[in-house]
Amino acid sequence: MLPIERQQQILTWLEEEGTLRVSEISSRLSVSEMTVYRDLKPLLENNKIKKTSNGVSAVIQDEPAWKDCCVYCLKPATNRKSVQLIKADHTIEQTCCPHCGLLRYQDIEEEVVQIICRDFLTDVTISGKTAIYLINADLNLNCCQPQVIAFDSRKQASQFQMGFGGTLHSFHEAISFISKQMQGSDCCKH
Ligand SMILES: [Zn+2]
Ligand SMILES: [Zn+2]
Repeated sequence: MLPIERQQQILTWLEEEGTLRVSEISSRLSVSEMTVYRDLKPLLENNKIKKTSNGVSAVIQDEPAWKDCCVYCLKPATNRKSVQLIKADHTIEQTCCPHCGLLRYQDIEEEVVQIICRDFLTDVTISGKTAIYLINADLNLNCCQPQVIAFDSRKQASQFQMGFGGTLHSFHEAISFISKQMQGSDCCKH
């Protein structure tokens, strides 16, 4: 076995089994512990594995930080307002709130197989396409303007609207409503 093959094998074991002792690796591969250390060295340097109290273990790659940011406006997108766009290639895009979710959807509509948001009142995940959107309610959620809130039930959305104002829209209505408002507020056109 070439060193590179042994390294691949070691990585596979570590991913499957967690932590392994150097002695265990050496006997499985039928090579000396010296050789195992040599094989491990580049893996340690490249942060693929780490030393632990009883051997070595695979480094779980942290999710890159940008994954926690809104793809549309780069605000943090890890709260309950965030929206997920699931694309045909199985990747997921995250936005900070339905405002960005809808605008992003409009940009990449053909790639999106599903859009998921959370009901503002119950926190239950709902399909963005069947959700009801309350736009410009009088309640500051500290995210993007015009502010968009998603609801599962039209009844609850209108009850909420009675208290906080705003206008109710279906999925496609909401998209065209926001994009119109955004055009109007384009500060770069002065
Ligand atoms: Zn955003
Ligand atoms: Zn936002």
